[in-house]
Order: sequence, then structure tokens, then C-alpha cells
Amino acid sequence: MLQADVVIVGAGAAGLMCAFNAAARGRRVLVLDHANKAGKKILMSGGGRCNFTNLYTEPANFLSANPHFCKSALARYTQWDFIELVARHGVPYHEKKLGQLFCDHKSSDILALLLAECDRYGVDIRLQTPVQDIQRLEPGYRLQTGLGAVACQSLVIATGGLSIPTLGASGFGYQVARQFGHQVLPTRAGLVPFTVTEPGLKAMCNELSGTSVECRVSCNGESFRENLLFTHRGLSGPAMLQISSYWQPGDLLEIDLLPDHDALAWLAEQQAARPNIELKTLLGEVFTRKLAGLLVEQGLASRPLRQYTPGELRALGERLGAWQVQPAGTEGYRTAEVTLGGVDTREVSSKTMESRLAPGLYFIGEVLDVTGHLGGFNFQWAWASGYAAAQYV
Ligand SMILES: Cc1cc2nc3c(=O)[nH]c(=O)nc-3n(C[C@H](O)[C@H](O)[C@H](O)COP(=O)(O)OP(=O)(O)OC[C@H]3O[C@@H](n4cnc5c(N)ncnc54)[C@H](O)[C@@H]3O)c2cc1C
Repeated sequence: MLQADVVIVGAGAAGLMCAFNAAARGRRVLVLDHANKAGKKILMSGGGRCNFTNLYTEPANFLSANPHFCKSALARYTQWDFIELVARHGVPYHEKKLGQLFCDHKSSDILALLLAECDRYGVDIRLQTPVQDIQRLEPGYRLQTGLGAVACQSLVIATGGLSIPTLGASGFGYQVARQFGHQVLPTRAGLVPFTVTEPGLKAMCNELSGTSVECRVSCNGESFRENLLFTHRGLSGPAMLQISSYWQPGDLLEIDLLPDHDALAWLAEQQAARPNIELKTLLGEVFTRKLAGLLVEQGLASRPLRQYTPGELRALGERLGAWQVQPAGTEGYRTAEVTLGGVDTREVSSKTMESRLAPGLYFIGEVLDVTGHLGGFNFQWAWASGYAAAQYV
């Protein structure tokens, strides 16, 4: 039977981070993954350039039923620690916007860095190795795997969430959690585009497919100022991905298409200053001509501004500043960047990531009920939680 001090299931961001940090402490580490390649999501991430962290990472950037859980790990392995690692490996990077750090070249630079560290400390990584069964020993664990039986003192579950099954995602981590008595909070797709079915909105999305506009979108007390992208399927772009994590089926989105202005006050000012300008021409100065045309067509017949009554102006202001949109749903796990929900953190130590129910069992990364905003926060959670567990496994 194969023996290791630590077995990590999942050779993704969190698993690899945990692996080399534990090996650096002198632990014999074996990483198992059922996929044919390590770190597939890293390779796909950030449009191929991996948004590997965010300069402004704070606990407030994460959703969880237990919002305090992430604080300790994030404080012990910060964005600055990962930036130092990236710099030490000579990986060139830049800030794109809003503190988001991306590779200058490609995501594989980050994966290569993690694999180089694993190599340096002698981590054994076995791909295409499924885990069929796990039993608890006293102490430790025994796994039935594609390599045969494996025994270990510490078992780390780093199998991620359900998003993008074609990249190797599975519900394995939740299954293991349940096996050892853990609660798994309901999961749903996060950071995901919206679909629309309402005929007027669908026609508008089709017509404007590829158009992007800056907006402020709000839902359930949260709001984000970012770009909205119209697509053939519905509404996407960073603003929509961010708010999707707060949206529940049936909720309305409120979209402010004039985030720099109070829409009604701005329209009144324009009416006073330029009474003869046509509404369509005015909106064409702010939006693309196509979007302006469609906004006008959707019930706002274009006339010179002086002809609008105060009531009409108010309706127009609401349309531009508080546009109510009802998505039909989201594109789901097929395109979601993350999975909300997961292993309930109230049964996991925030210091060590060890199960409070099964000694020697650890959960790290996205499998836990900790989900970051868009912008490098999800990788920072993978690094921080992986590092935290590595100190104790
Ligand atoms: C398209 C896309 C782009 C993204 N871009 C960014 C970005 O730029 N910045 C950012 O911060 N976040 C981004 N994310 C989110 C980020 O990739 C994840 O939050 C992060 O990878 C989670 O790390 P993890 O180690 O927990 O899980 P993963 O990286 O998903 O790793 C899990 C590993 O476990 C393996 N596994 C699963 N089931 C089993 C099983 N049964 N047996 C054995 N192995 C198993 C998988 O093959 C995989 O290798 C993106 C996600 C997607 C899908």
C-alpha cells in the first residue's frame, strides 16, 4: 500500500498551493487528480492571462453564510505574499483595473510557477487518478484510488466547485464532506451571465449583441459599477457577473445607465440648457447610437426635449437611471466562474481548515462555502486557504 503523510485530492489552485507549502515543511505529499492535466481552471482563467490576485483583497469581497470565516486565512497569506512569489519567479504582470493583477503573457506562467515549487519540494502529483473510496483509520485515512490503496495521516479535499464540468469539476468534495457528517450548503452558479426570455428585452439583447456600456447594477442591497455587455443570450459583462452572485430566481435587477448622474436631474438640466435637441440625439452623445435608438424605440418616442412634460421626463429618468430588468435565469454551471455555497464553514476550523468532525480531514479552496467577487479574489482565497492548511497537515 502506498503511504504518504498528506494526500491532497485536486491539483487545482488550492491543492497545488497547499502541496508545496506542506512539502516545504518536510511532509511527504501526494496529490491526486482525475483530470489529465493539473490546474485546468488556472489555464482558462482571466481570458488566458489569469487574474491571479487583487491588490485590494478584503474579507468584504467574499460571500459566505459565515462571513468571518475567511478573515484569518486571508490575513495570514495576503495578496502581497502571492505577488512576492510571482515576482520571485520572474513572472511579468500588470494591474488591469480595480486592483486586478493579470499575467502579461499567459496563465500558464502561474501554473508553471506552482508546479516548479511542487517539483522543488518533491511533491508527487498523479493525474488521471480517480478516488473511489475513503475510509477513516485511527489515525489517518485509507483511500481506494486508481493507483490502488493509499494511506495518509492528513487528507485534504481541494476538488473545487461545480462550475465548468468539462474542466474536471465534480461534486466529489461535497460527497466526502457528507460522508464525514458535514453540512453542505445549497450550491448555485455564481459570476455567471444572465439569460432573458421577455420578448422586448430579448430583441434588444440580440440587436445590441457585442455592445458594452458602463452602468451601476443593484440587487438585494448590493451594487456594482462596471460594464454591462449585451449578448445574443442575454446580459453579461463584469457588472452582470458580479451581481449574479447576489441574484435569486425571480429577482429584478435595477440598472443605472447614467452612473455619473442623477438621471432625472440631468434630463431637467439638459431640457433647460438645450430645449431644441432631440432626445435621440442627446442620448446618442452618451450611449452608442444603436443603444440610444433602441432606448428611444422602447416607448420613448423621440421629440425635442422642450416637448416633454415633467411626468414624461420622470418616466424617462427612471428608465435611464433605474431600469428594471427581470432575467429569466443564468447560464448555470456550464459557463459560471464559481460555485456559491458548499461545505459549511461552521464545521471547519478557520485557522487550520481542518474538519471539526473528522480529525485529519481538511477542506480548502472553492469546495468551501466561500466565494469571491470577480477580480482575482477567488484565486486569492485558493492561495490563502491552501497555505493555511499547509501549516497544519
Ligand atoms: C473560466 C474561468 C475563469 C476564471 N478566472 C478567474 C480569474 O481570472 N481570477 C480568479 O480569481 N478566479 C477565476 N476563476 C475562478 C477560479 O478558477 C477558481 O475559484 C479556483 O480555481 C478554485 O480553486 P480550487 O483549487 O478550489 O479548485 P479548482 O482550481 O477547480 O481545482 C479542483 C481540482 O480538483 C480536481 N477534481 C475535481 N473532482 C475530482 C475528483 N472527483 N477526483 C480527483 N480530482 C478531482 C479537478 O480536476 C481540478 O484539478 C475562473 C473560473 C473559471 C471557470
